[in-house]
Amino acid sequence: MEMTGNVLVKETRGPGGRGGRAARQVLTRNLVPGTATYGEDLVKIDGTEYRSWDPFRSKLAAAMIKGLPEDIIRRGDKVLYLGTSTGTTTSHVSDIVGEKGLVIGVEFSSRVARQFVENVARIRKNVIPYIADARESSRFGSFGRVDVVYCDVAQQDQTEIAIDNCRRNLKPDGRLILIVKSRSIDVIKDPKEVFRQESSKLERNGFSVEKVIELSPFDRDHALISAVLRGA
Ligand code: SAM
Repeated sequence: MEMTGNVLVKETRGPGGRGGRAARQVLTRNLVPGTATYGEDLVKIDGTEYRSWDPFRSKLAAAMIKGLPEDIIRRGDKVLYLGTSTGTTTSHVSDIVGEKGLVIGVEFSSRVARQFVENVARIRKNVIPYIADARESSRFGSFGRVDVVYCDVAQQDQTEIAIDNCRRNLKPDGRLILIVKSRSIDVIKDPKEVFRQESSKLERNGFSVEKVIELSPFDRDHALISAVLRGA
């Protein structure tokens, strides 16, 4: 068992869930003990409550199981999260940054945003919801520049949306975590080629790409790209 900040990684044996034998399980220290967000298990370990983090429902958890460092987002970080949906992953990011951190969560579909506000933002004091289009990057700067931009909007111009938000809202040497859904960009092209193409786009726009993690078997045709915005 290994603890990095508010993320706990357990090595497991035997069937780990749908579709395979997971060797690792990830959990986050629950910022709001006694409260689950999407029906996940609450687990007490040495007197502290953790929430189990389902890699089939969260691409960030899937990437951690596949080798993304658990401290990619840290305690106290300020995170601009684009595409929160109902807030499954955002709630774990809220656990990770803890009470001194902040998560600015952006979602443009009012139906899921309502659930996000009700189930996550209302309960977690470190989450600020914006019901807005992620393309309106100038609206998200009220809390100063952030340490991490997390972008999971599944749009054809997802990389451009991420780059624009980083230029406006990310600190120099801050980190971009970009989820690439290859079929949103090109339904015919080999996903690996799409991941290469989007990584090159980031490099051309002032980022150093550090990791490209394909998310199968948890999510087909998706990758997580972790990149750092090179300081001026
Ligand atoms: N990140 C979520 C998670 O892990 O729990 C899942 C996000 S889902 C794949 C993509 C979300 O992005 C959808 O809820 C969609 O409504 C939202 N979205 C797509 N385009 C957007 C945009 N331009 N601005 C804001 N939200 C957007």
